Amino acid sequence: MSSYLLSRIRRTGALSAVAGLLASALIGAAPAVAAGPVHPPSAAKHASATSVRASLPAGTWWGVKNGRTTSAYNQYFPGYQFGCRGDQRHKGVDVGAPTGSRSYAWGRGRVVGRGYDPGGYNRWIQVYFPSVNMSLTLGHLLDGSELRVGTSFTRNTVWAKVGTKADGLNHRHIHFRAARGNHGASPIGPCEDMNPFILWDALGLPS
Ligand SMILES: [Zn+2]
Repeated sequence: MSSYLLSRIRRTGALSAVAGLLASALIGAAPAVAAGPVHPPSAAKHASATSVRASLPAGTWWGVKNGRTTSAYNQYFPGYQFGCRGDQRHKGVDVGAPTGSRSYAWGRGRVVGRGYDPGGYNRWIQVYFPSVNMSLTLGHLLDGSELRVGTSFTRNTVWAKVGTKADGLNHRHIHFRAARGNHGASPIGPCEDMNPFILWDALGLPS
């Protein structure tokens, strides 16, 4: 094969691959033309993956309707104090959404703590998942929307709604803090918090 032909095939292959990627991005399907290094058929792979993994309601992020991450786990906030060691890193994930947006349960569990923490979590609940022995604290909840202690829930039960107003402010996010074990009596829980994605994955939610 001549070097001219080889380079032409390579270039054509690259262009086809780019066209295929563009097409897949636009229509969400696998590339119609397979060329060069073959990318996995993402659409088929996705379909088989979602059929065995858990799912939360459409239009949710972290189970929060119309939610989006507004502060990441361990994000550095100079001058702030998080957790029981005065850490300047954010010990949870904030998911912002309009006040009143629903927050759906990630899996089967029960409410083990509930309270009001002025200047901190404000209205909060703590939920426990026995199957994985992990817990999650949700802070800044719309007052009165949160489930009561002892309530059992399954995936997609509404835990609470976004946005406490009890302190005169209008909070537009939920703070999610995860930990191993059951620490229902305390809104903060142990010093040894963890990335909430560990709990998310343990419950079989989409990766
Ligand atoms: Zn937060």
